Amino acid sequence: MKKIGVLTSGGDSPGMNPAIRAVVRKAIYHNLEVFGVYGGYTGLISGNIKKLELGSVGDIIHRGGTMLQSARCPEFKTVEGQQKGIEQLKAHGIEGLVVIGGDGSYMGARALTQHGYPCVGVPGTIDNDIPGTELTIGFDTALNTVIDALDKIRDTATSHERTFVIEVMGRDAGDIALWAGLAGGAETILIPEENYDMNDIAARLLKGKERGKKHSIIVVAEGVCSGVEFAKQLQESTNFDTRVSVLGHIQRGGSPTAADRVLASRLGARAVELLIEGKGGRAVGIEKNQLVDYDIIEALQKKHTLDLDLFKLSKELSI
Ligand code: ADP
Repeated sequence: MKKIGVLTSGGDSPGMNPAIRAVVRKAIYHNLEVFGVYGGYTGLISGNIKKLELGSVGDIIHRGGTMLQSARCPEFKTVEGQQKGIEQLKAHGIEGLVVIGGDGSYMGARALTQHGYPCVGVPGTIDNDIPGTELTIGFDTALNTVIDALDKIRDTATSHERTFVIEVMGRDAGDIALWAGLAGGAETILIPEENYDMNDIAARLLKGKERGKKHSIIVVAEGVCSGVEFAKQLQESTNFDTRVSVLGHIQRGGSPTAADRVLASRLGARAVELLIEGKGGRAVGIEKNQLVDYDIIEALQKKHTLDLDLFKLSKELSI
C-alpha cells in the first residue's frame, strides 16, 4: 500500500484532530502518501480530496472539532453513492481509507468493505457507544465538559436550595449521563438502558432534604426524556423548586483532554498499521488498555453495553 486516505464523518467529537494527526504522521513515517477527504462521505462522493503533508496537521493536536470537516451524507447510504466514492478513491490512486466517526460512519466503512475496498474504522464519538472498544475518542473530553458545568450548577443550586435537572447527550447510550453523574455526585441518574420510578426518585430527594441537603442534582440522558419534561413530572410529585439546564452542543466542543489525545494517537496510528498489513474491513478499539482490532461487519452486529455495575455504584453512593 502506497497511498491512503482519511476522513471524519457524522457527529464530530473532540479528539478527531489528534486522530487525523496520528494517521497522517504514522503514514508518512512509513513512507506512505496520505490524502484528506474533506466533509465526510459528501466530500468523498464529490472528490473533495487533498494531499496532506507533515505540516498539514501541525498545531491541531489541542483543537476540538475536525480540520477535515464532517458531514451527514444520505447519498452514501445508496449503492450508487458508495460506488461514486470508490471511483473517486481509485481516481486518486488511494488504496485504503481510515474512517473516523461513530456507528453510522462505521456502516459507511462496512459498505465500502463489502464492495471489496479496504477500510479501517476509528471510534470517534462522544457517546462511547461503539461495540468492541471500552472507550471512544471524545468521551473523556465530553465528560469533563459536563462535570465542569455540573460543578458550577451545584454552586448556584446550593445557594438557592434548588433541585436541578441537567440534560446531557445520549440518545441510545447512557454513558455520558452515568459517568458524569457519578463523577459529579448527582443524586439521581436517568439512562435509556434502565426504567425509572418517579415515586422512588421523589422519596430519595425528600429523604435527602430531611437530612439537610441543600440541593439535588439529577442528570438525565436525552434519550430518556427531555430535561424540561422530567422537571415538570418531578415538580408535580415533590413541589420542589426545580430548574433545568440543557447542556446541548457544548458537549461536542473544546480542547481534547490528555486522555483523548493519547487514545486518538494510539488508535489512529494502529489503523494505519492495519492498512499497511493489508488488513482492511477492521475497526480498532481499546480493551483493558490494550489496542485491539476486530471485523467491522461483525462489530456492527454486536451491541454496546453500558457498565451496569457503575450504575449500581452510583446509586449506592448517592443515598
Ligand atoms: P455517526 O457516525 O456519528 O453515528 P451518522 O449516523 O449521522 O453519524 O452517520 C454518518 C454518515 O455515515 C451518514 O450521514 C452516512 O453518510 C453514513 N452512513 C450511515 N449509515 C449508513 C449505512 N447504513 N450505509 C452507508 N453509509 C451510512
